Amino acid sequence: MENETVSKNFIEQIIEKDVKEGNCEKVITRFPPEPNGYLHIGHAKSILLNYGLAEEFHGQFNMRFDDTNPTKEKVEFVDSIKKDVEWLGAKWHGDVLFASDYFQQMYEAAVTLIRKGKAFVCDLSAEQMREYRGTLTEPGKDSPYRNRSVEENLALFEDMKNGKFADGEKVLRAKIDMASPNINMRDPIIYRVAHMTHHRTADQWCIYPMYDFAHPIEDAIEGVTHSICTLEFEDHRPLYDWVVMELGYKKDVNGTPKQIEFAKLYLNNVVTGKRYIKKLVEDGIVDGWDDPRLVSIAALRRRGFTPESIRKFVELVGVTKAQGAVEYPMLEYCIREDLKLKAKRMMAVLDPVKLIIDNYPEGQVEYMEVSNNQEAPELGMRKVPFTKELYIEREDFMEEPPKKYFRLFPGNEVRLMNAYFVKCVDFKKDADGKITEVHCTYDPATRGGNFTERKVKGTIHWVSATEGVKAEVRLYENIVDEEKGVYNEEDGSINVNPNSLTILKECYLEPELAKAAEDEKFQFVRNGYFCVDCKDSKEGAPVFNRIVSLKSSFKLPN
Ligand code: ATP
Ligand code: MG
Repeated sequence: MENETVSKNFIEQIIEKDVKEGNCEKVITRFPPEPNGYLHIGHAKSILLNYGLAEEFHGQFNMRFDDTNPTKEKVEFVDSIKKDVEWLGAKWHGDVLFASDYFQQMYEAAVTLIRKGKAFVCDLSAEQMREYRGTLTEPGKDSPYRNRSVEENLALFEDMKNGKFADGEKVLRAKIDMASPNINMRDPIIYRVAHMTHHRTADQWCIYPMYDFAHPIEDAIEGVTHSICTLEFEDHRPLYDWVVMELGYKKDVNGTPKQIEFAKLYLNNVVTGKRYIKKLVEDGIVDGWDDPRLVSIAALRRRGFTPESIRKFVELVGVTKAQGAVEYPMLEYCIREDLKLKAKRMMAVLDPVKLIIDNYPEGQVEYMEVSNNQEAPELGMRKVPFTKELYIEREDFMEEPPKKYFRLFPGNEVRLMNAYFVKCVDFKKDADGKITEVHCTYDPATRGGNFTERKVKGTIHWVSATEGVKAEVRLYENIVDEEKGVYNEEDGSINVNPNSLTILKECYLEPELAKAAEDEKFQFVRNGYFCVDCKDSKEGAPVFNRIVSLKSSFKLPN
């Protein structure tokens, strides 16, 4: 990607112009999640975009919880979101902020609008309101309560605040234009009565502001200059501007705060929406929000993705206004690229069969000096124990090999990676015909791979049966049945792939892997990239996750 001329995306261009024209002094962006679930890969795009812009323009990045709707919000989600944003490397300015800290200011802003004759208390039921709203092709009708006096509105709003009304009995609406072609401008609700306990303000309030009213005020209070959101809010922008202008936060539509929309990140055949991930969790189809088959940030982290790989992915995807979807293999490409020169290349046997070297001394342990990563010599060397009894992959021996099979079969000689040449002299089967032992002889002259007098076509990996460690290894596939697509057309449920998780209970790894650190990643030669499962791994009983296999059909677009 070097030597590429990087052209600025449309958001960078807007901000650059605002800075140049003096529309803002210091660029302030924010990430405003609602704490009603765990973050996913789509949020990573929004986080890194907002953080990256603040960095690029030497501005400020705020982390603010949009906790204005107490129904689905929980402290568990607040904590997980903070952890994920930190992990991605997006450093926020000062303390974490909460929209709920501005409830008093929002309430006062509503009173200001009432005083200006720009808001009124409405008694219409939800159903009536729908009838009055009109449609995309027909204008709406004014509410019969629209012309209440300022005094009456002030008194009623006060009563709403003081708990005199039941949920849904009255709402406060902005007085804009029932004939607007934009339905969002047809006297939208800005406050509702909700007798609910909030996770931070408890029972202090029984009225809560609506998103379209609260969000611009939150931005304005914090001095956010560029309020970046996703495309579905494009039609809400006039309301955003109406709120900040009526309240005197901005004088000119071109000023700040300014809402800018970009396209959401979607991955083909991958469940991204919070709502759908939540359903998989609640239905017990996956083992929690951090199940490695999901694309929540917590799941990607547990699966072994690195923040660098996610940053690279988000960069490759880019920022546009045109909605599209990218392929999951692109994400896999990014983690492979990231780990290629960082991960040690170790030997691990996932489907073991025993190999016995008949002419190797009983009880002897030889330590083979092995490069951790031939392409990255700075990763150093390690010593791998070699013994008479080893494990090799079951697929690396065949009693009756097909053509072009260069691995072990009776009479054939192969190289044991980083060790000796061995020749198959015998094998044993059980009653079902399953191979139980492969017997070989080794040639001591061939040690270490620099032997040139004769050549062998196959090289296979191995682990000492006596010195290696036993581990559980988990292999993953997409949780979605790709042939059927994500959603079942009949009932909207998710088409689940029954083979998305394979648990291999009896794998053998080089002994060094028993000491793997929680965030360490490895290549298991020929088998892919792996990491320790941070949840289920125990001292003496390690569990490894496959992050990604080694091969890919993904090609970086030119
Ligand atoms: P979901 O649609 O998954 O439920 P959300 O939009 O409800 O997510 P919020 O917590 O409201 O989640 O979003 C926080 C921020 O993340 C918002 O600015 C939102 O626009 C952005 N965001 C959410 N999903 C995506 C996505 N797929 N791609 C890019 N940005 C996203
Ligand atoms: Mg949402």
